Amino acid sequence: MFDSITGSIKNAVNKIRHKDDVASLKKAITELKKSLLKADVHHKTTKELVTNVELETKAAGIGQDSFLNALKSELTKLLTTEGNQGFVFSSTPPTTILMTGLQGSGKTTTTGKLANYLKTRKKKVLVAACDLQRLAAVEQLKQIAAQIEVDIYFDDNEKDPVKIAKAAQEKATKELYDVLLIDTAGRLAIDEELMAQLKNVKDAVNPDEIFYVADSLTGHDATKTATSFKEQIGIDGVVLSKYDGDTKGGVALSIAHQVGVPLRFIGIGEKMPDIEVFIPDRIVSRLLG
Ligand code: GDP
Repeated sequence: MFDSITGSIKNAVNKIRHKDDVASLKKAITELKKSLLKADVHHKTTKELVTNVELETKAAGIGQDSFLNALKSELTKLLTTEGNQGFVFSSTPPTTILMTGLQGSGKTTTTGKLANYLKTRKKKVLVAACDLQRLAAVEQLKQIAAQIEVDIYFDDNEKDPVKIAKAAQEKATKELYDVLLIDTAGRLAIDEELMAQLKNVKDAVNPDEIFYVADSLTGHDATKTATSFKEQIGIDGVVLSKYDGDTKGGVALSIAHQVGVPLRFIGIGEKMPDIEVFIPDRIVSRLLG
């Protein structure tokens, strides 16, 4: 998956020739730093990571094994943000989840994938079509809902997403749904109107969780926009979409470290079952090859 970073991490490990060879550890650290930056890992994240790997390797006694163990443990630590992986259900159903993200990030697809994930785990799920920004979004969600056989709330005559979200929540409460997933509007870039609309929807339904769908392929921008959403709306979790197409692999590390919000799921393809709970160990294994 991440051939280039995996290859360059192996090169870094191979720089260490002899036990307790400080000069070779320095070379390995330089190589590691280069490979992380090339994989789009944020420079601050990179700095912290390599400093800790160097210290840990020295403490354990310089060698290829101790270097690799230190790297594995630091990567895992970095990806394990305090919080939860997967879903957190409210004690008073329906658990209302607001799906946010920029246009094209995979928000509508991810809403369908999560609904499908819940349905296969015997949860009663309702999706609500509140993305009135992108012309085809409501139609797309209708098609997805039909395909996965999940109920959908939409209102083709209503132009106010706040009213649709509120009505969907009333239906979900009355009809005893376990989870309500609300697909909201996205835009090509963050603007005030988008944020104002999201805040209005948020205030109207008081969601249990706000998920931000981040497109892995946008590299450093994914971290920047997730940070803006966190500051302006407040987000509880990140879903990394298009992870299957990410050849660099650094975005998960940057988001976990820089945004400080737990990564919940990763999207690994275009089809409905292509979603996984984010498990740090699994990602570290993929990075290390
Ligand atoms: P939205 O504008 O954020 O609602 O974006 P969409 O849900 O329409 O998704 C945009 C494109 O990304 C579509 O072609 C999706 O099939 C694709 N997509 C979404 N998630 C993934 C993923 O995890 N992997 C891949 N390969 N494609 C994805």
